[in-house]
Amino acid sequence: MKPINKEKALVVFSGGQDSTTCLFWAKKHFKTVEALTFVYGQKHVKEVEVAEAIARKAGVVWHKMDVSFISQLAKNSLTDSSITMDQEKPADGPPNTFVPGRNLFFLSIAAVLARERGISHLVTGVSETDFSGYPDCRDAFIKSLNVSLNLGMDEQFVIHTPLMWIDKARTWALADELRVFELVRARTLTCYNGVVGDGCGECPACKLRQKGLEKYLATRNTEA
Ligand code: ZN
Repeated sequence: MKPINKEKALVVFSGGQDSTTCLFWAKKHFKTVEALTFVYGQKHVKEVEVAEAIARKAGVVWHKMDVSFISQLAKNSLTDSSITMDQEKPADGPPNTFVPGRNLFFLSIAAVLARERGISHLVTGVSETDFSGYPDCRDAFIKSLNVSLNLGMDEQFVIHTPLMWIDKARTWALADELRVFELVRARTLTCYNGVVGDGCGECPACKLRQKGLEKYLATRNTEA
C-alpha cells in the first residue's frame, strides 16, 4: 500500500469566493498547498488572472490547465454569449449556467495532476447548501467520484469539501476566521459578468454572494 501524503493538498481554484476560502482553509490544514485553475472557455478570462494573482499572494504553486473542450461538448450560458443567462433555477432542471461534467472533469484532472506531484488531498469549494441545481455539487457525487478515482488509479485520494454543508453567510464567517475576509471581499471574482469584488450586483452569483454577506455582516456587527 502506498503511503498517504498528509502534508500536501491540491485545491481546485477558480479565484471566486468559495475556492479562495478553500485555498486558505487548505493552507491552515496542510503544510504544502498547490492550486489548479481551469480555463474552460468561460466568457470572463479575467477569472484566470484573478486566480493567478490570489495564488501568488497566498504563496502557493499555481497550475493552469486548458480544458476548453468542455464548452465544445455542450452549450451553456457561462461559455456561450448567445444564450441569455437564467436568473433563477427553472422548475424542470438546472439553470443554463450549469456546465455539464464540469466538476467531474475538474476533479478527475486534478487527481491526475495530484498523483503526478505526490499529493493525496484534493480540495474543492462545492456546496449543497445554497444548492442552485448543479448535480455535480452534491455530496453523493463527490463521494462517488472519490471512490472511482481511487479505484481507477489505485490511489487513496481524499476529496475535502469544507463548504459542503455551510451557506454563503457561514462561508464569509469562515473567511473571517481564516483572516482573509477583506481579501476575499475585494479580490475574488464570483460575478457572472466579470466584475471583481462586490460584483455587478445583478447576476445570480452576485445576488447569492451579497445576500450571504449581508446576513454575515449583521451577525458580525452585533457580536463586535
Ligand atoms: Zn454579477
